[in-house]
Amino acid sequence: SKEFTVVIIGSGGVGKTSLTVQLTEGTFTEDYNPTIEDMYQKLLNVNNEKILLNLLDTAGQEMYSVIRDQHWRSGNGFIVVYDVTSKQSFDDVEKFVDLVKKNKEADEFPIVVCGNKCDLTSDRAVPEKVAKDWCIKNSCLFYETSAKKKINVEEAFVGLVKLIIED
Ligand code: GDP
Ligand code: MG
Repeated sequence: SKEFTVVIIGSGGVGKTSLTVQLTEGTFTEDYNPTIEDMYQKLLNVNNEKILLNLLDTAGQEMYSVIRDQHWRSGNGFIVVYDVTSKQSFDDVEKFVDLVKKNKEADEFPIVVCGNKCDLTSDRAVPEKVAKDWCIKNSCLFYETSAKKKINVEEAFVGLVKLIIED
């Protein structure tokens, strides 16, 4: 079996912890604790192969101070999360993706962008097509997700593992 480390990044409050907890524990809570940073593990079956994922759920509001050197080094792939109800969090995706590519010194690196909270349909601020087109242009895989309704959560992480395996 293989073992990979995935780092979950994105602005505060977008659902990084919720996606990680939904994947690993199958639960969702409305609680918000922006300071929790933790490592999680999840065994996934991808292409008939057992994959052990170490998940680093990052925390904090300030992206440059939040993402420490060891995070960049350890990451085989990155999940970049924004909130479909927050245009600002989508604008931040570009900065996070640029930081990944700069730190990994690669034009392409396994990155999945998640437009989370897609259950909040009446509050949507980022059209799906805008995000999808941006991701195609920037060589990222894209999913709209809901940690709350369990939409595309496992799919996004499996998609990232497939990118890592192909890399
Ligand atoms: P983080 O700062 O990126 O780790 O964000 P959290 O996972 O702590 O989530 C921030 C807030 O958004 C919490 O109140 C969550 O309950 C809520 N939240 C997270 N994911 C979703 C989702 O998919 N749908 C909805 N409606 N709320 C969500
Ligand atoms: Mg969090």
